[in-house]
Amino acid sequence: MGMDVIGRAPATEQGAMFRRSAWGWRALADYTMRIGGDVAAKCGYWHTNDGDGLDAEDSAALAEIIGQALESGEAERFVVERKAALDALPLVPCRFCEGTGVRNDDVGRKSGMVFKTVGPEEAERVDFPHPRIGQIGTCNACASAGMSRHPDTLYHLELEDIREWRAFLAACGGFEIH
Ligand SMILES: [Zn+2]
Repeated sequence: MGMDVIGRAPATEQGAMFRRSAWGWRALADYTMRIGGDVAAKCGYWHTNDGDGLDAEDSAALAEIIGQALESGEAERFVVERKAALDALPLVPCRFCEGTGVRNDDVGRKSGMVFKTVGPEEAERVDFPHPRIGQIGTCNACASAGMSRHPDTLYHLELEDIREWRAFLAACGGFEIH
């Protein structure tokens, strides 16, 4: 599932459509609500495809607020601090192998994962030290590590997303979230 934010009366091509996956939209919408105050609050449904949105005047006001956050460095600070907080979250046990790194359910047994050796390439699929290289038994869900990054880390937000979002808001002439 993704989000298509459609410009009601775009002044430029950039204001016609703003599109993100569910992973790429959530943190951006949360940030918009966080800094957008009363203006952002006029849109009640930021996280669903119900067609809620803002009119032209409020979209322009929101673009102004976000533009100020970009210029002051506040937006960049938010992105950096958010990333640091996500990086600090503990790893969570993989639910497919119950934290063992060996997938022993029907899928794991039928495809022989329990007998395979964890190859060195599995280390490249995780961004933490892999604890099981060379051991017997694999899990395709967690690169056989038994653990994975906290699910919140899947929701990404870069400074470039905020810049692009501001440019859309400035040019959309009002928008609807679908
Ligand atoms: Zn696993």
